[in-house]
Amino acid sequence: MATLGDWIAEGGVVVLSGAGLSTDSGIPDYRGPSGSARRSTPMTYQTFTGDPVARRRYWARSHLGWRTIGEARPNDGHRAVAALQQQGAVGGIITQNVDGLHQAAGANDVVELHGNLARITCLDCGELTPREIHGRRLDEANPTFAGVALAFNADGDAELADESLDGFTVVDCESCGGLLKPDVVYFGETVPPHRVTRSFELVESARTLLVLGSSLTVMSGRRFVLRAAKLGIRVAIVNRGVTRGEPYAGLLIDAPLGIVLPHLVALPAA
Ligand SMILES: [Zn+2]
Repeated sequence: MATLGDWIAEGGVVVLSGAGLSTDSGIPDYRGPSGSARRSTPMTYQTFTGDPVARRRYWARSHLGWRTIGEARPNDGHRAVAALQQQGAVGGIITQNVDGLHQAAGANDVVELHGNLARITCLDCGELTPREIHGRRLDEANPTFAGVALAFNADGDAELADESLDGFTVVDCESCGGLLKPDVVYFGETVPPHRVTRSFELVESARTLLVLGSSLTVMSGRRFVLRAAKLGIRVAIVNRGVTRGEPYAGLLIDAPLGIVLPHLVALPAA
């Protein structure tokens, strides 16, 4: 019987990663078995752009949540994926995560399906700003803000007592005065078409689609597994708990990624 090691050794692997890959870095997966159920509903694009009070509260929460996510570091799973890529076994990487940890581990050719929290985008002029610069502007605009996060979510949206949010000042685009938003895809928003196209290209050129830490609950990720299965491309899934990709998986491993992945590669000392 084939093992995951056999499939990886044959090369042509494209990775599709989800929140389960980053839980060992301290970023909670609110859908997975290790995540606490989030208390607030996720921000939607419609609410963010249409409700100034909700937007102000979101920025206060996001500003705090970033302090944790911005400090997260890659774990053994991210390092293993990067090492497999450097060895030539893994080609492209498609990630549903917005934490940038694949690249921080040294990986390249990463399609960030849902964007990256480290970038802020202007909804009017499209200018991108690094999070650090935007964070400094928020600090300057809110010198007395000292909210304490109760918890935070994988999308960088912290849970915060409402009284902490009162009076938080949002800053707008320095170039055009437009609305600023983290460069991540919200619920109710579609993934930019060029990222979807690039992801399908990667999948269609793969020998194996390796799903890491995704329950494949949302179609934005599951569609790539469906495409692989339709084309007869092998699908392997390493994930804790149930996954909706199970019917399409030739190999399914329910085990911690931080244990499984380093076994597949001779990791350099961390
Ligand atoms: Zn602008």
